[in-house]
Amino acid sequence: MARHFRLPVPAALRLALLALGLAPSAASAQVADLGVPSVTKLWEAGHGDYGPPALLDHARLMARLDMAVKEGAGLYQKEEIGQSVEGRSIEHLWFGSGPMHVLLWSQMHGDEGTATSALLDILHLVAIHRADAPVRRLLDKLTIHVVPMVNPDGAERWQRRNAQGLDINRDALLLQSPEGRALKALRDRLQPALGVNLHNENWRTAAGKTMPATISLLADAADEAGTETPGRLLARRVCAVIRQSMEALVPGQVARYDDEFEVRAFGDNLTRWGTPVVLIETGPYAGDNADRELVKLNVVAILTSLDSIATGAVNQADPGLYAALPVNKSNLYTVIIRNASIVPGTGVAPFTGDIALDSTRAVKEPDAGGERQAVQAFRVADLGDMRVFATLEPVDATGLFAVASRGEWKAGDTVDIPDWGAFRSSRPLAVGANTDIALLRPAAPDRFTVVRIVPRERSLGTVPHGTGK
Ligand SMILES: [Zn+2]
Repeated sequence: MARHFRLPVPAALRLALLALGLAPSAASAQVADLGVPSVTKLWEAGHGDYGPPALLDHARLMARLDMAVKEGAGLYQKEEIGQSVEGRSIEHLWFGSGPMHVLLWSQMHGDEGTATSALLDILHLVAIHRADAPVRRLLDKLTIHVVPMVNPDGAERWQRRNAQGLDINRDALLLQSPEGRALKALRDRLQPALGVNLHNENWRTAAGKTMPATISLLADAADEAGTETPGRLLARRVCAVIRQSMEALVPGQVARYDDEFEVRAFGDNLTRWGTPVVLIETGPYAGDNADRELVKLNVVAILTSLDSIATGAVNQADPGLYAALPVNKSNLYTVIIRNASIVPGTGVAPFTGDIALDSTRAVKEPDAGGERQAVQAFRVADLGDMRVFATLEPVDATGLFAVASRGEWKAGDTVDIPDWGAFRSSRPLAVGANTDIALLRPAAPDRFTVVRIVPRERSLGTVPHGTGK
């Protein structure tokens, strides 16, 4: 086995170099601009590995924020702006010295963590490139505030709501959650000129009818009438910039979120209180690297739009680009197995149709090995004629029988089934089922070959439990 020797750069020297803006790594090549190709390249060369967002809990985040502050060597200020119901700290970091204040907050819903990892990457990339002109301009023109995890108790459980069972994003008026109060107090103290509200949306969301809504945008309304204000115009221009950035990477996969005024939500109320808000919702993406790619898209969306504000280019952005976005529609399934002979497994004869699976990200608590695992869990959402729905992962099952797998089957197996009509499974193939689905091809009379198993879950990664690393 070949061994690679690398000369380690002593930590103290590295910090000293960082303080001078001379990070000794390949990622530190001079940044010429913060356009889409540059930021994409920066991210590819220098992003962190935080594991799947579902496993980045509060302890891990705190360790990462401490590392970011160290790496920033004076660039980052950090304070606790409050504590969650269960006493976890809610952290606020800020950097830059510009007159325009921008506030970004993530994970107000505990199970929506993509942007939290993206904010960590941005802290790292800004630190190592702080001496480069476009980053210096960002720091000179803006003061950027981030609250990377508004709802740490929800993140701990990987659930939307906080430990009171409250949806913090419907608590902007009653302010019964300590997390909501902390965010409101920060907004009132900073009076930022722009807020960026970072969420994930359901993987059923399509951009229009056929494309996944990988990124959905909203320039929040400030009232029922959707009154036009200078702030709202800025938010729509920022959305236009983000649309252009995203179209370069995921063409057609950008949508507009329902912009009806929600009287209880933070985005709408911040807008009403004087801080126009852009909502970025991260949605479905095909393939095994979805989590990673979605973090990258967030980094590109955030840095390119902040850059457009710093340069003033945002004032030339056409708000019509935002208005013309296809509207979010719940029209997508993660997987559609098309044109199968569906075997319900309840003694009912097979019939021809499609099987639609939706998916969610879930956390499995430690097994004996002490590892927490993030999975994408699939569920049969619908059966029958699914032709009007789009999918991330089409499976053509023409000529195949689809049946809930009994566990012992794997691809390549040969099984004897004399009568599908009488076939009974302990785990029927029905709406709501979380089951492996075997696709079988007739091989001989009463004999079938298992062509493929569509699994009931897919591993996204593991971390040891409770180390905070
Ligand atoms: Zn949300």
